[in-house]
Amino acid sequence: DHKELENLPELIDDVVTLLNPQAGLKNIEILWKQESNQNVKCDRSQIKQVFINILKNAIEAMEKPGYIKVNDYIHHNEILIDIIDEGPGIPEEVIHKLGEPFFTTKQNGTGPGLMITRQILERHGGRLEILQNEDTGSTFRVILPKP
Ligand code: ADP
Ligand code: MG
Repeated sequence: DHKELENLPELIDDVVTLLNPQAGLKNIEILWKQESNQNVKCDRSQIKQVFINILKNAIEAMEKPGYIKVNDYIHHNEILIDIIDEGPGIPEEVIHKLGEPFFTTKQNGTGPGLMITRQILERHGGRLEILQNEDTGSTFRVILPKP
């Protein structure tokens, strides 16, 4: 682990720039609305990987053109970043399996993405929350401690 103080909006900017082409191919727009200008003590490449994993899943989940919203805010001593997609959501029977190492519902899926995401966040004193709604997609909430 190699943790340094990193600017979170800059890090998310990088990830959005990286994934914009893939989103564009499906006419999906990533709406990244930066609210808090927070630094986080983190391993930059690992936390980037967290956002890459979640955003890629969001792009892959969406069957139609639309928007993925990324919002950040502060709540008590934590920084919350919500990634909100317009995909089909996650069925109840699937949500319980998301912690399993190689669980995937994709034909060419590999599965460890979310498990690794959770492990990285745990190593940073944070966590992942999955809020879902069958009608309007899923929200993946990344929670990191304020430095
Ligand atoms: P993979 O992407 O290789 O399938 P992941 O660990 O990244 O592996 O995701 C595991 C499973 O979680 C996916 O196969 C999918 O069923 C579900 N999932 C993840 N993100 C979303 C999302 N945004 N909307 C709907 N389902 C999702
Ligand atoms: Mg994935």
